Amino acid sequence: MQPIHIIGGGLAGSEAAWQIANGGVPVVLHEMRPARTTAAHKTGALAELVCSNSFRSDDRDHNAVGLLHEEMRRLGSLVMRAGDTNQVPAGGALAVDRDGFSAAVTQALASHPLVEISRDEITALPPASWDSVIIATGPLTSAPLAAAIRTATGEDALAFFDAIAPIVHRDSIDMSVAWFQSRYDHAGPGGTRADYINCPFNRSQYEAFVDALLAGDRVSFHEWETATPYFDGCLPIEVMAERGRETLRFGPMKPVGLTDPHRPDVKPCAIVQLRQDNRLGTLFNMVGFQTKLKHAEQTRIFRMIPGLEQAEFARLGGLHRNTFLNAPKLLDGTLRLKAMPRLRFAGQITGCEGYVESAAIGLLAGRFAAAERRGEEPQVPPPTTAHGALLAHITGGHVETIDAGPRSFQPMNVNFGLFPPLAKSPSRSADGERLRGAAKALAKRRALTARALIDLNAWTGRASMVAATQTVPLVPVSEGVPVPERSPR
Ligand SMILES: Cc1cc2nc3c(=O)[nH]c(=O)nc-3n(C[C@H](O)[C@H](O)[C@H](O)COP(=O)(O)OP(=O)(O)OC[C@H]3O[C@@H](n4cnc5c(N)ncnc54)[C@H](O)[C@@H]3O)c2cc1C
Repeated sequence: MQPIHIIGGGLAGSEAAWQIANGGVPVVLHEMRPARTTAAHKTGALAELVCSNSFRSDDRDHNAVGLLHEEMRRLGSLVMRAGDTNQVPAGGALAVDRDGFSAAVTQALASHPLVEISRDEITALPPASWDSVIIATGPLTSAPLAAAIRTATGEDALAFFDAIAPIVHRDSIDMSVAWFQSRYDHAGPGGTRADYINCPFNRSQYEAFVDALLAGDRVSFHEWETATPYFDGCLPIEVMAERGRETLRFGPMKPVGLTDPHRPDVKPCAIVQLRQDNRLGTLFNMVGFQTKLKHAEQTRIFRMIPGLEQAEFARLGGLHRNTFLNAPKLLDGTLRLKAMPRLRFAGQITGCEGYVESAAIGLLAGRFAAAERRGEEPQVPPPTTAHGALLAHITGGHVETIDAGPRSFQPMNVNFGLFPPLAKSPSRSADGERLRGAAKALAKRRALTARALIDLNAWTGRASMVAATQTVPLVPVSEGVPVPERSPR
């Protein structure tokens, strides 16, 4: 059997290699470190964690990333096994000893009989003789390969300062203050004239908001980031505020072409617009609000926006160098480049965000590639699972903006806004009492996570039935990793 080639031995590439090898298919993993490194990596180990050592919440019942952990454990994830065996105390989060973690991943792959690790930088598109390739080179893809991908995809911007605007859960926006309307009631292609949520400011609210932006605590630039230009039109909101107190009113917060139906006679001083971000209509992003404010400051300051006082953020804003594809346009449902299907992408370069999400997309890419190599039809996980929700976001769940300017698809962590809504949200507790407030929100999350795990189990059953009917003989697939006892952390 010809090997599958993986470029990049980070979180995604390592997990993909493990899944492929455990699916009975040989794999060559190409990693350029330590001979050539990135601006953030420090070692030659596989799956190095470049910044924090946290995999975030491990609560599988109430948290989307905790659910993703659990699904990965059930799918035999190497990243989760190495994380669980190297965990350090961190409350409800799964934090790891970073050196122990990377060493465990490196050791597991190095000793697998079907894995070959090749320490080389791939500087061009892979040769035609590599008929199945996974590119998992991450946000800091080396420059020659990034240039080759840019040429192959036809996208004019692949690496730049990634300006991320915050994303808000729709059901946390106060619609007795905010309203739906497109500027000048313009419908646009596929629009309804009411595609944006608008939040109005009076003069004193606007002045207080500008003061807060100017005084807000910011993340400082890394030295290496200073060499990378801003992507056109993506100045941070606080930098715009510095240019003049009225700048925002004439920029992303301009109040023209909109009428507040709650108070039609009052002309707002400024308006923040939020644009639908996913097909489900559960998430809205804050238009023009890319920022380098620290996360706690963003939550505090953006809740000063009328209508967002109780806002829950699916993602906060940020700015760092990033390399990622316009995946909904370029990739098919199993992460293959539509224009060149022998190339598959995985990890942060596909537009997911975070260690765990990157590894999860690596897991799927590995399984899809291995299935193809065995002559099977790759099985896509249901969108009700955390894996399926994340994959759907990357490969088609995002709504392309009609505005001029930078492309609207931006990296995102897994969150419940990506899941299809429940047919019926729980309204009563087990003993029949009506649920309210936090208890109701928790019950809804429990229902979403329970549905996800049931559907994941059905999917894995289906996938193994497909495998069993194939004519190509299979090397026995690993049993996966036993789910560890969940001790209180
Ligand atoms: C500065 C910074 C800080 C971050 N902090 C966090 C954080 O705290 N928490 C979090 O969850 N996420 C964080 N992220 C996001 C993080 O990068 C991803 O979550 C995750 O590491 C991405 O996984 P990946 O496998 O896609 O890429 P990576 O883990 O970066 O792996 C890509 C691998 O490809 C290799 N490579 C690149 N080009 C080539 C080439 N041409 N040939 C061969 N090999 C190549 C690289 O050496 C690297 O090992 C951060 C990102 C950056 C840039």
